[in-house]
Amino acid sequence: MNESSLKKTLSKLNIGGLRYFPSLGSTNDEALAWAASDAKDLSLVIADEQTQGRGRLDRKWFTPKDSALAFSLILRPTAPLRPHLSRTVGLAALSIADACLKHGLVPQIKWPNDILLHGKKAAGILIETVWSGEDVDSLVIGIGVNVSRTSVPPMEMLKFPATSIEDELGKEPPAREELLHDIVSAFIAWRERMGTDELVNAWEEKLAFRGEQVQALDGGASTVTGSVQGLESDGSLRLVDEHGKSVTVRFGDVSLRPAA
Ligand code: ADP
Repeated sequence: MNESSLKKTLSKLNIGGLRYFPSLGSTNDEALAWAASDAKDLSLVIADEQTQGRGRLDRKWFTPKDSALAFSLILRPTAPLRPHLSRTVGLAALSIADACLKHGLVPQIKWPNDILLHGKKAAGILIETVWSGEDVDSLVIGIGVNVSRTSVPPMEMLKFPATSIEDELGKEPPAREELLHDIVSAFIAWRERMGTDELVNAWEEKLAFRGEQVQALDGGASTVTGSVQGLESDGSLRLVDEHGKSVTVRFGDVSLRPAA
């Protein structure tokens, strides 16, 4: 991966700008700083390796050299998009899922922010916001995809099983540039439909654990156990608890686990 191969691959997509780094702390940190200055809508920060890749809270995201996709897209919301910004994580998840489907994989979305292949985590999303007073100035959408086998973290780093596209395909994975192109292209197309039911329905259709019992964990303490029913129109998760009562789980630092 290098700057000219990336520019070439992305040339037909209308991105706002590109910053490539062979090695970087975190693409989200770089994108947050760029967004706070003069980044245009759909600017992209990408690194071959992240040395301080982040998940939610202070969790680490593993991105070794030459093996993964790690990038952040900067989104400058227009007025029509503003009422739908809570769907951004779904927009990103669907874009990764579409790219996986194109390459013969069967992705599922582990609400809110992970993509599973055969029940194992192959990609994650981290969304961060640049505020302007009480308004959203821009959103930074960080995406990490395990492409080669060597991108899968060692077991002791994991609370949830992980895999890679190479492992699931059982053969040479597509080039990272090509996958990046497919994800960004799907993102641009889905963003046009951000306010539609179509987006929420497609997102819901790909939810992992539908009809199964899960625990929604909030910082380690079990908050609610129930079966996964679907999504509310803002992208919140709808569960039905053991008393048959419908419970809405909002975003925040919630992690889903299959219930024991
Ligand atoms: P979760 O969704 O598991 O609640 P996050 O979305 O914040 O957590 O992701 C961070 C966690 O993902 C880390 O604590 C680690 O267990 C796991 N992880 C880190 N790097 C990778 C990777 N490349 N692939 C799969 N899982 C990873």
